[in-house]
Amino acid sequence: MLSTIRSKFYCFYALIALFLVCIMTIVLQSNLKTISTNEILLEEFRYIRNYSRLIHLLQKERGLTANYFSNRTAENKVNLENARSNTDEQLGIFANTLDASGTTSRITQIRNQADQGKSVPSSTTKEYSLIIYRLIRALSSNSFIENFHHTPQYLIVENLISTREHLGKLRAYITTLLNNKSASEQDSPYIDSENSYYLAAKENLLSILNQEYPEITQDITRSNHIKSAENFIQIYSEIKVINLSPNEWFRLSTQAMDYYLSIQNKLNSLIEEKLTQNIKSSKTTALAASTTTILAITLSFIFFVKYLNLFSSRISTLNIKMKSILSTNNYRIEIYDKNDDEISEISNSLNTLLKFTNSLIEEKDRLASRDKLTNLYNRHKFSELFALELERYKRHGTIFSLCIFDIDFFKKINDIYGHMIGDEVLVKLSSEISKNIRTNDVFARWGGEEFVLLLPSTTIQSALIFAEKIREIVEKISFTRNFNITISIGATEVTQADTQDSLIIRSDEALYESKKTGRNKVTSK
Ligand code: GH3
Ligand code: MG
Ligand code: MG
Repeated sequence: MLSTIRSKFYCFYALIALFLVCIMTIVLQSNLKTISTNEILLEEFRYIRNYSRLIHLLQKERGLTANYFSNRTAENKVNLENARSNTDEQLGIFANTLDASGTTSRITQIRNQADQGKSVPSSTTKEYSLIIYRLIRALSSNSFIENFHHTPQYLIVENLISTREHLGKLRAYITTLLNNKSASEQDSPYIDSENSYYLAAKENLLSILNQEYPEITQDITRSNHIKSAENFIQIYSEIKVINLSPNEWFRLSTQAMDYYLSIQNKLNSLIEEKLTQNIKSSKTTALAASTTTILAITLSFIFFVKYLNLFSSRISTLNIKMKSILSTNNYRIEIYDKNDDEISEISNSLNTLLKFTNSLIEEKDRLASRDKLTNLYNRHKFSELFALELERYKRHGTIFSLCIFDIDFFKKINDIYGHMIGDEVLVKLSSEISKNIRTNDVFARWGGEEFVLLLPSTTIQSALIFAEKIREIVEKISFTRNFNITISIGATEVTQADTQDSLIIRSDEALYESKKTGRNKVTSK
């Protein structure tokens, strides 16, 4: 694993971003699930809301039918007609299922029989009640609301519908009874049993409702409409008499029914609001989660790319430098990398190899260009530098002078003191002269005990002064065996017609002249 501090950070950030992606994906998934669950529940809830409205309309139609056929006023007729058309409208929503189960045709049949006087009001009421009973029963096995079945709200709605239905039946039975005193004895057991069903259903409703919506429970228990309807039913159960006209009872019981209906509507709003709110908040969370996911993916991608770039750019720099080194043979290029990873280790190892190669090359060059004994430039290297100086002069006119000198009677030194001492003389002479020349001056061993000095930007006059200085320095050098040496110098200045050879020949001629005319002197030509 490549490991610079920066790369570790990028890696760390990329991993955090990926971790965030995972978390956000889980959050997103769970929220999408919540959205779809709640959307299904909302759809099913709307179904059951319409269904309970149909039941309510049938209950209303049942009550108005009982009322009208017991008391045929124009007003009651209009109310009944309106109720029938409202029921029909609501039936239209469930046409497919209810037509198939024969409910629609049964309702038409009941209406026709009542209109044609073929049935007594109490039996019409029972027919309606049977249809409503079947509708309520069918609710618990209705596949359209299979998810909503499992919610506590379903139990509340179902119990509320049942409670209303029992009260609705009581309303219709008692209305019929009050209009038709002769039916009293026959119908009173129905009323007693219906009342006990109603009270049981209400009790059940309140206990379930109290767990989820305690404030609504209190609304029901405190309702005066419900209380007074229940009081009259109770009185009737006990003494079989109600001191109310049918219309008054109908109005009173309808108020209680309507109160239950208002509770149902309130509950519906709360349920719908809660489901809608769940969907909305899940959508917001899902949106935030998806935005974060996209951001985290982008960030992890950026950090990953940065992580890769960190290495790829360094590898590519290294590659470019290596290619340049190999193509130019310039082994002085540095490829040192101060990071702390495998790439820097490879770079630095290569850099060490380069340094080593460079030192070998320098040593090779030194060996190829220097004289072994004196470490001065050899003749070969001198020729190279000489050519450059001559070219500069030809191109730019920068003048130079050349001196050749030879040790006087050197053979004697060898003969007297031996070759080793002769060598020492050559070495010491070289170092002493080297100390006294300019950095630009080129000092070389021409061969044997002959030396050359190339003096850039130096006229023959200056060269003569310089040569004289050198001559004096040499004269003063003292060697181990306490002897001195002298040198003879030939100097010349470059001219336009000169070549290396012509300059050498001319200075050599000047040297010869110095030798011929007494040695230990400088001659120019
Ligand atoms: P002059 O130049 O004054 O005419 O006399 P000379 O004695 O110096 O004569 P010559 O130039 O002929 O002799 C040069 C001698 O230098 C010959 C050779 O033995 C000696 N010599 C050449 N190279 C070396 C060297 O590398 N080491 C030693 N010790 N002697 C060398
Ligand atoms: Mg010589
Ligand atoms: Mg000599």
